[in-house]
Amino acid sequence: MAIPIPSRQLFINGDWAEPLLKKRIPIINPTTEEIIGDIPAATAEDVDVAVQAARSALTRNKGKDWAFASGAVRAKYLRAIAAKIKERKPVLAKLETVDCGKPLSESEADMDDVVGCFEYYADLAEGLDAKQKAPISLPMKTFKSYVIKEPIGVVALIVPWNYPLLMATWKVAPALAAGCAAILKPSELASVYALHLLASVFITCLELGEVCREVDLPAGVLNILPGLGPEAGASLASHPHVDKISFTGSTVTAVKIMTAAAQRVKPVTLELGGKGPIVVFEDVDIDKAVEWTIFGCFYTNGQICSATSRLIVHESIAAEFLDRLVKWSENIKISDPLEEGCKLGPIVSRGQYEKVMNFISNAKSEGATILYGGNRPKHLKKGFFVEPTIITDVTTSMQIWREEVFGPVLCVKTFTTEEEAIELANDTHYGLGGAVVSKDRERCDRVSKLLQNGAVWVNCSQPCFCQAPFGGTKWSGFGRELGEWGLESYLSVKQVTEYV
Ligand code: NAD
Repeated sequence: MAIPIPSRQLFINGDWAEPLLKKRIPIINPTTEEIIGDIPAATAEDVDVAVQAARSALTRNKGKDWAFASGAVRAKYLRAIAAKIKERKPVLAKLETVDCGKPLSESEADMDDVVGCFEYYADLAEGLDAKQKAPISLPMKTFKSYVIKEPIGVVALIVPWNYPLLMATWKVAPALAAGCAAILKPSELASVYALHLLASVFITCLELGEVCREVDLPAGVLNILPGLGPEAGASLASHPHVDKISFTGSTVTAVKIMTAAAQRVKPVTLELGGKGPIVVFEDVDIDKAVEWTIFGCFYTNGQICSATSRLIVHESIAAEFLDRLVKWSENIKISDPLEEGCKLGPIVSRGQYEKVMNFISNAKSEGATILYGGNRPKHLKKGFFVEPTIITDVTTSMQIWREEVFGPVLCVKTFTTEEEAIELANDTHYGLGGAVVSKDRERCDRVSKLLQNGAVWVNCSQPCFCQAPFGGTKWSGFGRELGEWGLESYLSVKQVTEYV
């Protein structure tokens, strides 16, 4: 283990706090399967204390300390957080790799995105001041109206484990820019709460607490409560003094969160799973298209919500395409994710590893062919590794076509006409990311319009910028994160109309 794992408590009201029930969750390194530390598990009692701290942060000094401070004041804190994260990038990237198994180069890129996202929302926070009191044009001269934008209030930010600090940042940065006070709940692995030995938890989110302490963020503005989903997460979702829930995770959990939110008519933003298509036409540069197909499905060890994990390739190039896809896959370096050149590390936990392996064996028993991979790599004796896997002879009724795997598994179908390709691409309950690859510009425009996805990539897959909106349709959720849309989702619009 290259770096010591910091021992942390809960982060509440600007400082570290013992969990009231002193429960802890072990941290497992998915590469070595060893326990390398532990973190506290917040309970309903801790949630209550954190929500009160957040509420006081909004009302202290009549809100002037935070909620009604100028955007420029909040921007100063966001920039200070960005600068501290930049300084700690090497440590944070290593922690994230050791904790969740993604190749170090990817964790480093994530930390750059974290810094960029805080800086971007600092700019938007500053810009908010000029947008206040925007006049509305009315048909009667005897009335004057304007709009003010106010923070929604106390927000619960519940995040998954695949990009621990980045997914947290997508919520924390705009929420703070808007003037909200937040309770961030990083992930444990919800499916393993009964068997703690399988847990893997997300220490970089807790490091964000230390950064907030160092920059003297006003107490209670950001509280961080790691804990189990059905306990800390559920208490947050149903808490009467939480004004909004922003959730990223599975569709199954989203239903529970929506149900809890409905009881108190709370707004929710939901960023959920996906089963994205990549449609490859016959006119492509095959090597480039293969590279994006690999990247779109195997990046982050295949654990990407917007992964394009269904390849829909024109029948006239399918044989050659698959041949080159296999050759590329053979060259993917699978190793300890801290090792130079690693391209595929372990799956995040044993529970998730077993889930991925089950998908592969179900595909086989349903009659699909494992064209490449499908096993644990032979050269690695420990760790939750799965080979990059390509599955053909797939039918649209098979589980592997219909359900999100969340691992490095690509399933393949061929098509003859453009209509057929679009029908196959949209043949899913999900609607997060989709991609089209073709040299024909008009065709790309046509297909982009017809894909039922919140994000469409043309001649690429996965690039994501904090300036552009991100979110899904259908079972992939609703609401948008990032860009101005992300900021708006933490603002409440108030109109003031005056008789003159
Ligand atoms: P998950 O739904 O199991 O857990 C997500 C979060 O919800 C965790 O913090 C968990 O503790 C919490 N949680 C669990 N049960 C809860 C409950 N009853 N009440 C409140 N909170 C609860 O998802 P996961 O396994 O951590 O993440 C994987 C899923 O997330 C995949 O489906 C993936 O596609 C999706 N995801 C989506 C995006 C996106 O931007 N759309 C990004 C990353 C991951």
